[in-house]
Amino acid sequence: MTTTKVHPQIASLRTLQAQDRRLTALERQLADIPRRLKELDTDLVKLEQMLDNERTKLEDTRSFQTRQEIQLAEEEELVRNSKAKLGQIKTSRELNATQREIDTTRRMITARTQEIGKLREAVSTTEERIAKMDTALSELRAQASSEKERLTAEQTKLERAIKRAQKARSGLTADIERDWLRRYERIRKRTGGMAFVPARRERCTACKMMVAHINYMRLLKGQEIVACENCHRLLYWAGHFPAPDEDKAKEPKPKAAPAPRKKAKVSS
Ligand SMILES: [Zn+2]
Repeated sequence: MTTTKVHPQIASLRTLQAQDRRLTALERQLADIPRRLKELDTDLVKLEQMLDNERTKLEDTRSFQTRQEIQLAEEEELVRNSKAKLGQIKTSRELNATQREIDTTRRMITARTQEIGKLREAVSTTEERIAKMDTALSELRAQASSEKERLTAEQTKLERAIKRAQKARSGLTADIERDWLRRYERIRKRTGGMAFVPARRERCTACKMMVAHINYMRLLKGQEIVACENCHRLLYWAGHFPAPDEDKAKEPKPKAAPAPRKKAKVSS
């Protein structure tokens, strides 16, 4: 029995795919940062607008209260004047009329005093609410500013990581035949990510469709890259690269195990 190694192109493409997956994840994280920054500003603006509305409401209530107080003062003045007039009145008819006027004004004074009391309460409630919102706004501003700092630092970190990943990637693509690389890139662009995927239990793990038996046999040999007939992604056999927690029980044994990696020399 001869020992078959997995074709180096398969291993290289698989490594490239893993690298691209990492790179894409990093790029997505980076692209998400401006959105998160904007969200922070949106939250602040919302609270600021709410606060502005409350302040406008408070001003309206206050000016209404002032108008009521002016009217109250006028009514009190009216009562005082009428009372002063009482002494000079000659006829009982006139006396009655003035007395009625005083009574009416007094009732108005009572009602207005109650109204002013309610307005004062409303003003102080709104003032309390505004004070609370003001505190919340300051807290939110502080949080947003530290969150922005954190995000900006994350952005720098991601940009560096992406540069490193891109550099590592160009090292990997150098190992791959141009035609395969071009095909891989084309599929990756089309699918937005995965182009070189494992086949397992006679199925493409990306689209879940069956792989024709004859093609699956070719994959098991580990010497060819075969495209999925359904999604056209490039396939390799999962069993050539066993992961520790993969369920391999139902997989047929490959003809030969992949060659173990050469370890660095250890002096004994
Ligand atoms: Zn497929």
